[in-house]
Amino acid sequence: MRILITGVAGFLGSHLSDKLIADGHDVVGLDNFVTGNQNNIAHLMGNERFSFYSHDVSNYIFVPGKIDAVMHFASPASPNPESPSGYFNLPIQTMKAGALGTHNALGVAKANNAKFLLASTSEIYGDPAVHPQPETYAGNVDPVGTRAVYDEAKRFAESLTMAYHRYHGVDTRIVRIFNTYGPRMDLEDGRALPNFLKQALLGQQLTVYGEGKQTRSFCYVDDLVDGIVRLLHSDEHLPVNIGNPIEMTILEFAEAINRVTDNKAGVTFKPGQRSERDPQRRQPDITRARNILGWDPQVTLDDGLRRTIPYFKEKLGIA
Ligand code: NAD
Ligand code: UDP
Repeated sequence: MRILITGVAGFLGSHLSDKLIADGHDVVGLDNFVTGNQNNIAHLMGNERFSFYSHDVSNYIFVPGKIDAVMHFASPASPNPESPSGYFNLPIQTMKAGALGTHNALGVAKANNAKFLLASTSEIYGDPAVHPQPETYAGNVDPVGTRAVYDEAKRFAESLTMAYHRYHGVDTRIVRIFNTYGPRMDLEDGRALPNFLKQALLGQQLTVYGEGKQTRSFCYVDDLVDGIVRLLHSDEHLPVNIGNPIEMTILEFAEAINRVTDNKAGVTFKPGQRSERDPQRRQPDITRARNILGWDPQVTLDDGLRRTIPYFKEKLGIA
């Protein structure tokens, strides 16, 4: 297949490209580098299976030649209000990437009679009142809250995707991605893993928000990409959760990182929530992914952290 990936210079888009090219596909990448990094795709430049266009997906997308699948990953993704690349500080771009960008990407799929896959998110469940979260749970999101620029853009993107499927017959997929980590994450984007791993490798205290009792479930990037590629090749049109179901508190996560990096500095608590409506519990119900895709994550947290550490050390200039 010749596959268009928007947001190709990001953390997930670049890993997805590597996997699809290794599987024998051609990748056409789009990115405007608002949160991504040219270094993430530098190794693909010159590869005859890869081509790249610098473009903002909120504007009309033109790609020469036939496209067989469109995978729409372009969007700011970090929820940290202290980070310039977080969506709190890119509110209009985030809404435009989710709304106008999804519309344009769906338009490319329709014009090419191509498959379409939307990168949605666990954030569409908001601060969930149902636990763990199955795809049938409709969520708990405040449309005028400060997080809404991301949550509601993704919810709109899902609705638009289903409208193109139901009305235009486009062959669509929706993946709801839960917290994922690995090499090529932006060390400065303020998410828990980059903050904690950077702090641990520098021998600093890890900054835990609140009492660290909020929970997440962290998936290694190779597992996630495997699940997404399986979904692309499936016939499933309704949303599928992809994430690691092993839930832990953020304090436990911080302690695991200190253990694996042998950091003796411990943690420091920052009082209060990082931002309003920070989800207090999050764990994917992956029954659908197991049944429909035959998918289950394979990489343990310790193993995933060990695979991620060399990238962080290189970026930090640590031997
Ligand atoms: P990222 O910031 O590393 O990658 C996003 C990429 O999209 C960046 O390269 C950025 O420059 C690009 N982009 C943003 N707006 C654009 C626009 N208007 N035009 C062109 N390019 C644009 O983030 P990521 O973690 O790789 O996330 C990728 C996708 O996966 C996002 O849609 C995000 O919502 C979704 N997602 C990620 C996670 C996660 O844990 N990483 C969880 C849930 C959902
Ligand atoms: N968090 C933290 N310290 C940090 C960064 C994040 O305690 O330095 C917490 C944050 O408040 C949230 C959780 O870790 O409860 C996960 O945050 P992340 O940014 O990774 O993603 P989210 O799951 O909120 O989208």
